[in-house]
Amino acid sequence: MICALVAGLNLVAGGLQNHVHAQTPNVAPTSGGPVDRALLEDIATASRILADQGVLDAFGHVSVRHPKNPQHFLMSRSLAPALVTADDILELDFAGDAVDARGRSLFLERFIHAEIYRRRPDVMAIVHSHSPAVIPFGVTTRPMLAMYHNAAFLAGGVPIFDIRDKFGATDMLVRNGEIGRALAESLGDKPVVLMRGHGNVTTGPSLQIAVFRAIYTEVNARLELQAIGIGGPITALTPEEGIKADKVNEQVVGRAWDLWKQRVGGK
Ligand SMILES: [Zn+2]
Repeated sequence: MICALVAGLNLVAGGLQNHVHAQTPNVAPTSGGPVDRALLEDIATASRILADQGVLDAFGHVSVRHPKNPQHFLMSRSLAPALVTADDILELDFAGDAVDARGRSLFLERFIHAEIYRRRPDVMAIVHSHSPAVIPFGVTTRPMLAMYHNAAFLAGGVPIFDIRDKFGATDMLVRNGEIGRALAESLGDKPVVLMRGHGNVTTGPSLQIAVFRAIYTEVNARLELQAIGIGGPITALTPEEGIKADKVNEQVVGRAWDLWKQRVGGK
């Protein structure tokens, strides 16, 4: 009788153990390897630049693909962008899990970055922002057009991701991989995607170019609103002009980066 009782308890305990095991979070991914301190400093500097330029406020984030493991990326722990330092940068995998979070919380919308890196091997850096002047172009039928050469990367077209299309009424946030995949699909092969009622994502082949595009997407939106205010047709850059002008932008991006970096005292 006692034996049967003990055996029964063991069964219950075994069952509980299995249950607990099933609930255990994913095992932390293995690191892609050490990263130069200079890159961590650059990510922190990019966060502070984007805050200084009015692209990020208390929200939004910037990331870089891991230089040694293309299946991983680097981004800050959950923190206001103006406060980010190199010590806040974490390594994450495409599931959105951190290699070594050490108790620090992660950005809820890290799946934006994970799923775009997964789909677009050419993308090496990503900025997600709620930059204010861009918002109207995500909620109206006026397309975002390239007003001038600095925003040439917009001339090939700017898609809009509407979370409602696949997910119905939500809190608008990209809070899991499924929503992240839908956003990455909307981005397609373009450098920028707008998010209805939320913000936008800019991508680039380098951190400096992704930051440049985030800043000039915001500036371009302000200029386009002014052009609309003047009235009449708008003669924006054509896709062909955009390709030519963007090559120049990519060559001189370092000049803009140095200026913006100096303003925020970047290392
Ligand atoms: Zn967001």
